[in-house]
Amino acid sequence: MPEKQSQRQQRKQKQDATPETYEYIVVGAGTAGCVLARRLSEDRTHRVLLLEAGRPVPAEPVPAPAAWPSLLGTAADWGGTTVPQNTGGSPIPWPRGRGLGGSSAIGGMTFLRGHRSGCDAWTAGGAKGWGYDDLLPYFKRSENVTGVRRRDPASRGTDGPLRVAPAARRHRHPLAQAFLAAAVQAGHPRACDLAAGLETGFGWADLAIADGARQDAARAYLRPVLGERANMRVITDAFVQRLLLDETGTSPRCTGVAYTVADETPAEDAPRHASSHTARCSPGGEVVLTAGAVGSPRLLMSSGLGPREHLQDVGITAHLDLPGVGCNLQDHVVSGVVHRSARPVPESENNHAEVQGLMRSDPRATTCTAPDLQLGIADLPVRAAGLPGPGPGAGYTITVALLSPYSRGTVRLADADPATPPSIDPCYYADHHDLGLMTAGLRAAREIGMAPALALWRGEEELPGRDIADEEGLRAYLRSNLHSAHDYAGTCAIGTDTDAGAVVDTELRVRGVDGLRVADASVMPTIVSANAEATVYAIAERASDLLAH
Ligand SMILES: Cc1cc2nc3c(=O)[nH]c(=O)nc-3n(C[C@H](O)[C@H](O)[C@H](O)COP(=O)(O)OP(=O)(O)OC[C@H]3O[C@@H](n4cnc5c(N)ncnc54)[C@H](O)[C@@H]3O)c2cc1C
Repeated sequence: MPEKQSQRQQRKQKQDATPETYEYIVVGAGTAGCVLARRLSEDRTHRVLLLEAGRPVPAEPVPAPAAWPSLLGTAADWGGTTVPQNTGGSPIPWPRGRGLGGSSAIGGMTFLRGHRSGCDAWTAGGAKGWGYDDLLPYFKRSENVTGVRRRDPASRGTDGPLRVAPAARRHRHPLAQAFLAAAVQAGHPRACDLAAGLETGFGWADLAIADGARQDAARAYLRPVLGERANMRVITDAFVQRLLLDETGTSPRCTGVAYTVADETPAEDAPRHASSHTARCSPGGEVVLTAGAVGSPRLLMSSGLGPREHLQDVGITAHLDLPGVGCNLQDHVVSGVVHRSARPVPESENNHAEVQGLMRSDPRATTCTAPDLQLGIADLPVRAAGLPGPGPGAGYTITVALLSPYSRGTVRLADADPATPPSIDPCYYADHHDLGLMTAGLRAAREIGMAPALALWRGEEELPGRDIADEEGLRAYLRSNLHSAHDYAGTCAIGTDTDAGAVVDTELRVRGVDGLRVADASVMPTIVSANAEATVYAIAERASDLLAH
């Protein structure tokens, strides 16, 4: 063998025997994962590995913002459903992003911080350092609202990676304008900057859309630095199956991950094969889970970190009994009042949901300022399969979402195989308070729907229908027309040592395990009171500081 070739081979063998190690292994290149990979790799002495189960791009060509629902069910979506819910037994679709950008790459692009009371409730519950004022610098650091009038730089960011703004005036949907006027006529306050998290009332929501294009975590955070940082490595099609644990010390230490990489698809319909790999942390390095509110607890449990009894049931040896993993699952449940439109509804140039309102179900309550309902306008009919009503272009919906659900659900493993989809049970309406709050929301939506400003649009109320007015009828309707807002949260909650349900401490370290953190939507102790994405960006921004210091 020629000498040069033999030297090359020896070098390669040596590299294989001493695989590269990383200061940070980030699992899941979704909303939080893209933020962390970018921030952690800013220090060029840190080697960062970002592993993502999905493909590099969500779909080709990436559809215009208004076509976002067409991404659901594609390769960019894990395509899961819940177990049958108490609504007559139907599973509910539970899309989750799969690919660079994760759910931010397939989501609805409404960009609102939860009302400040949501984060303040976390600190009141023991999550010290996670109140609204603590998170404010991180909310600001993620966003760029430059050029938007009526945005106060004291509360809004002007140089973050993510460009956000309300729908531009010339592209606003006429129904959204009429809805906003109708809400004010119905007595609701007009909010100036709903996205700041400081107000209740109705107003133009910020959208993660700039120059007519979706702004997701991959586009904003990752792509600008991809290829420019030798210390950051991104592997797609890489499904992390389990965490590597060293149990020789007093407490287990996470030392890396085991993952498979799917081969390039050779041809249509050909089965994809996968090769097995491990990635290891350098001494003192850490694994950070950003696999989302389903993916992170799933991976912990597949690795033997979770509720002991459940792990035993599915045949997994429990390395640590962490009862809170996969519990405390929360989501915003959505329904609404569907109207036939008296005139054709123009196609949306944005995300179908430009105006939102945060309100209290009981406006007389003075002791609490936290909004518990979110009402909005959708320029299309929002109805479950099988329900009657107008088709697209012929109807609209005043949507109602429950911001502060009492019900709690679970993410559970179906078996010991890490590749088997987990069992997801959000337990919608399991707590009777939730239906009561939602019927109050339907009544408020009806009132706005009958306001003069919507007169030109208003046709028949198709759902629930004017003849359904009593509490029982409205509750039955809510059970039949039930949707998820896809704001899944809470399954690896932050908490204190005395809180048996806490999965991570206030620095996001998994309790009882060294070298392992969770930093995504799953760490919210309670779901925020608006769409979740803006808060996930802030959580990840803060996590990057916690990791770096
Ligand atoms: C259809 C839809 C619409 C939405 N609309 C809005 C909206 O309009 N406004 C809003 O604020 N919020 C919206 N949301 C919610 C918002 O997108 C999420 O709250 C947020 O993106 C969650 O971020 P995350 O980082 O926790 O998880 P994700 O962004 O979901 O990222 C998790 C990533 O981890 C990867 N992963 C999971 N398991 C593994 C594994 N084992 N190995 C490797 N990789 C793995 C996934 O593929 C994914 O890329 C929507 C969500 C969906 C699904």
